[in-house]
Amino acid sequence: MPGTEYFGAEERKEINDVLETGILFRYNHDAQRNNIWKAREFEAEVAKLVGAKYAHAVSSGSTAVSCALAAAGIGAGDEVIVPPFTYIASVEAVIFAGALPVFAEIDETLCLSAEGIRNAITPKTKAVLLVHMCGQMANMDEIMAVVNEHNLVLVEDAGQAMAASYKGVSTGLWGKTGCYSFDFFKIATAGEGGVMVTNDETAYKLADNFADHGHDHIGNNRGMENHPVLGFNFRISELHAAVGLAQTRRVPAIREANNKHKKFMMEELGKIPGVSFATIPDPSGDSATFLNILMPDTQSAQAVVAALNKNGVGGFNYWFTNMYHFINQWDHIKEGRVAAKTNVQLLGAPQDYANLNIPKTQETIGRLISFGIRASWTDAELAELTSKIAASIKESQTVTA
Ligand SMILES: *Cc1c(COP(=O)(O)O)cnc(C)c1O
Repeated sequence: MPGTEYFGAEERKEINDVLETGILFRYNHDAQRNNIWKAREFEAEVAKLVGAKYAHAVSSGSTAVSCALAAAGIGAGDEVIVPPFTYIASVEAVIFAGALPVFAEIDETLCLSAEGIRNAITPKTKAVLLVHMCGQMANMDEIMAVVNEHNLVLVEDAGQAMAASYKGVSTGLWGKTGCYSFDFFKIATAGEGGVMVTNDETAYKLADNFADHGHDHIGNNRGMENHPVLGFNFRISELHAAVGLAQTRRVPAIREANNKHKKFMMEELGKIPGVSFATIPDPSGDSATFLNILMPDTQSAQAVVAALNKNGVGGFNYWFTNMYHFINQWDHIKEGRVAAKTNVQLLGAPQDYANLNIPKTQETIGRLISFGIRASWTDAELAELTSKIAASIKESQTVTA
């Protein structure tokens, strides 16, 4: 969780700029705000970091997914291919857009595979919501081929992969629209916040309107603005944007430190028989927020988890059983438990969510153990943790042998 490791004078300075004027709202109040526009600056900083033409900041990564879907024209009744391994917000956003999630297989990239997408396509498929997981990126050449072949709309949820790229193009910019999260656990945090990005001017304008009750933001009299489309309130406050701005400036240094630490860990742990790692389609584009270890099978991975727990080695996620990122833990989706009817109930689920046939995903997540990488580790801390992980893996192997 690197962003949270660095909360300091820079963040406080940006917040104080806002506190000096008291204008916490991102629009209007031109006379009182002393030319302080943190949301705008935050958007410009994210656009610069990732190389996007347009960025629009909102209240969370979850609402950024909603904006990205709406701006890409995904709506009622559309089938959207999603991964069964993702933060649940991706799936929620599809459902609350009125669309129908269709789960497809991932592979060792931890993201949807081109083959998985191909097998899930039906005549009703409108889009793919590709989620770049655990700081890495999907295999974009193969995915773009299937997306283009079938004329699908691609939307990218890069909630946990801002600053990752594939062959020089950032996650979030391969599809029609993309988005990042700035919650407390991401490479940069705003406390709460998210950013939608696109290179498409029409999509950008739609997101800008959609995230603020349809306001067109033309002129400086809010009461006189036009409303090209229906929207809702997904606005970010100036205080959150101020933090996000300072944090975004830190990302290149964080990414560099993460990569140095991850390379060391992969070199050391890779020497142990049976240890491999999630596939990184472009290692030079890794944001390296996680070290993703793949053991040979679920049983050996669970033995490693047991040894890590026994030895008090924390800082890892075993998503297969104990985290809220995998369909096996999504009983509400499988059982159709909702506060109020959605299109999944109205139109019928396109798949039996409780009995999906996703063997490749089950075995991949069963084998996966992810360690959160900290950018602020000292060399000594890094070496100590790595040797503790190595010892636990070896211990688990003598137990199971
Ligand atoms: C964190 C995350 C989100 C949600 O972001 P919030 O800011 O917590 O709402 C969405 N998608 C992915 C892949 C995430 O990791």
